[in-house]
Amino acid sequence: MNRILIAEDEPRIAAFIEKGLRSHGFTTTVAADADSATNMALSSGFDLMILDLGLPGKDGLNVLEELRGQGENFPVIILTARDDIQDKIAGFEAGADDYVTKPFRFEELLVRVKARLRHSTSRQVVEEMVLKAGNVVLDLRSRKVKVGQNTIELPAREFTLAETFFRHPGQVLSREQLLDRVWGYDYDPSSNIVDVYVGYLRKKLGSKLIETVRGIGYRLRN
Ligand code: CA
Repeated sequence: MNRILIAEDEPRIAAFIEKGLRSHGFTTTVAADADSATNMALSSGFDLMILDLGLPGKDGLNVLEELRGQGENFPVIILTARDDIQDKIAGFEAGADDYVTKPFRFEELLVRVKARLRHSTSRQVVEEMVLKAGNVVLDLRSRKVKVGQNTIELPAREFTLAETFFRHPGQVLSREQLLDRVWGYDYDPSSNIVDVYVGYLRKKLGSKLIETVRGIGYRLRN
């Protein structure tokens, strides 16, 4: 299980990131100021850090320099409202591996987190990057899908929905669970968006792959 440290002083943003990452199977810890971020990063064996630059106590860049100075080499993704090219350069020079500007889409942050972890982690994680059900293969690295002999591409949201099903084969997933995992925030539960997207997947991946469990939700056949 990958452990991610989120250094972010804005509770709403920290909670948003945390909820999204947890729903994708990550373990998360939030540090709300520079000193606790530094201490946790140095002591607790995290796999990756998401670092806000405007932190109480010290600038995030100083936190990063200190961590790199102490030999901490886990991937760090800066997440900040500072979108100037000079700021980005300073971030990379301080030792960041990636740089995401606010406002941001959770999907984009997630893709970058996964990409950074892929570079730095074990074979076991790499092997999990291909998921199969029936004649459908999901490649999480290239984000391509093979249906029989045909390779297709899915829009981001459809891919994430497919990935959610493929990670839980044979398990009934409720609309609420799917909304939470794929759309990543509280969505009107009376919305039929899940049903619409399941319809898209059935059209593209095969009509029998995802079955309806009446009154509850959906299940991937395995
Ligand atoms: Ca901040």
